[in-house]
Amino acid sequence: MAQHFVMLGPPGAGKGTQAKILSEKMGIPHISSGDLFRENLREKTDLGKLAEGYINRGELVPDDVTIRMVQERISRSDCQAGVLLDGFPRTVYQAEALDEILRDQKNTQVDAVPCIIVADDVLVERLSGRRSCQNGHVFHVKFNPPKVDGICDVDGTELYQREDDTVETVSRRIRVYLDQTQPLIDYYRQKGVLVEIDGAQAIDAVSEALFAAIAKM
Ligand code: AMP
Repeated sequence: MAQHFVMLGPPGAGKGTQAKILSEKMGIPHISSGDLFRENLREKTDLGKLAEGYINRGELVPDDVTIRMVQERISRSDCQAGVLLDGFPRTVYQAEALDEILRDQKNTQVDAVPCIIVADDVLVERLSGRRSCQNGHVFHVKFNPPKVDGICDVDGTELYQREDDTVETVSRRIRVYLDQTQPLIDYYRQKGVLVEIDGAQAIDAVSEALFAAIAKM
């Protein structure tokens, strides 16, 4: 069965939520490039300082630093059996680099690319209502509210709104997705690994559709 996954879909499609569920089920690490950047931001590393402006403006961090960060993470021993990448690649250049990394480091390739499809007008509402905790657990004020307002169900820490989840930045992020990331749909379709999933359903229904599609690959 497939072990190297890339989750595709616009910001707000539910990629992160589904990636967490799938990685637990498959027993492989969930690697979110956005979470890696946010970790660097919190720890005020050089990489965090470099990335901060791009992230807050809703733009992509330059390819070379992004690729280096993900490459380092993939090379760790917990990724031996497989990985589930979320938010990376986001450009065709990154996708080509990933192919090279998997080939050179692990003699393997991307096996399956679930792409979660959601209409553009739903995305802004989903993202602007999103609340996250510092450990990356994600809720939504309307669609997936925490049991106690403002507190993470999983670890009891406070929930916050990401600086790039405001209405203005969200629109920019969606435009960036359409321009730079959407071409990856064709890139992976041509390789025969793309699986399109309807993301306009409840979280459980999306997961079921995702598992069913992957099981066939
Ligand atoms: P995310 O949590 O995936 O929505 O990512 C948050 C932000 O981190 C993005 O809007 C970008 O600024 C940056 N970022 C995350 N992944 C990448 C990537 N693969 N390439 C460039 N920038 C990225």
